[in-house]
Amino acid sequence: MEKMKAVVAYAPYDNRYEEYPKPEIGPGEILLKVKGCGICAGDLKAYHGGVRVWGTSESTRYIEPPCIPGHEFYGEIAAVADDVKSFSAGDRIVSEQIIPCGQCEFCRQGKYWMCRKSVVYGFKNYANGGFAEYVKLPATSINHVIPKSFTPEQSVLIEPVACGMHALEQAEIRHSDVVVISGLGAIGLSMCNIADLALPKMVIGIEMKEKRIRMAKEFGADIVLNPLECDVQKEILRLTEGIGCDVYVEASGSVKSVRQGLEMLKNMGRYIQMGVLSDEVSADWNMIGDGKELKIIGSHLSGKTYDAVIRGMERGLIKTEGLISHRFPLKDWEKAFDTAENSPDAVKVMLIP
Ligand SMILES: [Zn+2]
Ligand SMILES: [Zn+2]
Repeated sequence: MEKMKAVVAYAPYDNRYEEYPKPEIGPGEILLKVKGCGICAGDLKAYHGGVRVWGTSESTRYIEPPCIPGHEFYGEIAAVADDVKSFSAGDRIVSEQIIPCGQCEFCRQGKYWMCRKSVVYGFKNYANGGFAEYVKLPATSINHVIPKSFTPEQSVLIEPVACGMHALEQAEIRHSDVVVISGLGAIGLSMCNIADLALPKMVIGIEMKEKRIRMAKEFGADIVLNPLECDVQKEILRLTEGIGCDVYVEASGSVKSVRQGLEMLKNMGRYIQMGVLSDEVSADWNMIGDGKELKIIGSHLSGKTYDAVIRGMERGLIKTEGLISHRFPLKDWEKAFDTAENSPDAVKVMLIP
C-alpha cells in the first residue's frame, strides 16, 4: 500500500504527523493532490477536545479517530475514476466542506448543506481532510474549478469566505440597514467586505485585536469598535440615534457576543448566529418575543455560495489581501496551530503539504 504524509488526529491534544495510507479511489471518486489547507477555528477547538466534535460520551461523539482533519483545502486532481466526466487530472479544484448524501429530503430539495446523512471532511476516516498530501473526494462531493489566476491564498480562502457569504445571505441586508459584525477573523473581515458590497447604510465591526481592527477598515467596515476600549452597546446606540442596529452577525463564538447582539439590535432586528460557541448561552429570552420581535436566524456552513465567491474574487470585488497571515509546511502543524491560536497578528494560517 502506498503511503503519504498526514497530520492524524487520535484524541484531544494528540495529533501526529506520520505516514498514512494514500487513498485509493473507486467509482465516482477523485484523488486530489492537496496544495494548501487553511486552519479553521473549528480545527483548533477539535484539537482541544471541543464538545461539538468529541461529545461528552461515545454516543455524542462526532469524530471517529484516527482521521485526518482539515476542510479548507484545495488542490490539483491527481486521478479520477473512469466514470468521472466533469473533471480530469490536472484540474485545480476546491471541494465544498460538506459531503452530502444526495438522497435525503434536504438533498432532494437542493438544500444539501442541511443534509441529514452528510459528513464534513476531517472527522471520519472515510472522509479524511486536507492536512495531508492527498485527499479522496467521494462521489457525492461538490467540486468547483478554481480560476487559473487565483493565488494559493485565494484558493484556500474560498471555503471560509463561502461560509461568511452564506451567513450574510441569511441576513437579507437592505440598503437602509446598519449591519454589525462581531468577531473579525478571516470570515468576519470578509463579511465586512461582502456586506459593504450590498451598500447598506453602515457596516460596523466589533473586534479586540489591533491588526484586525486596522484591516477591517480596508475591508469595508465604516467603524470598528473595540470592547476593551469602549462600551460597544452604548456606541451602537449613539451611532443609530438610540434605536440599535438592524442586523447583528455573531461571528466570534463568544457567549458575551450573543447577549450583546440581542441587546444592541433594534426592534424587529435580525440576529444571525454563524460563530460556533463552545459554551451554553444564557440570555434574557424575553427580548426576542415580548419585547423586540427579533428574528433569530442560524447559519450553517455554506449553501450554494462557492460559485459567487469565486466570481467575486475573480472580479476583485471580494478582497483576500492579508487574510492568510501565515504559511507553514504541513510537518510544522504544531507551530501553525500555536500561531493561529496565540499570535496577535494571526488572521488565517495555512498549511502546505
Ligand atoms: Zn472551517
Ligand atoms: Zn442528504
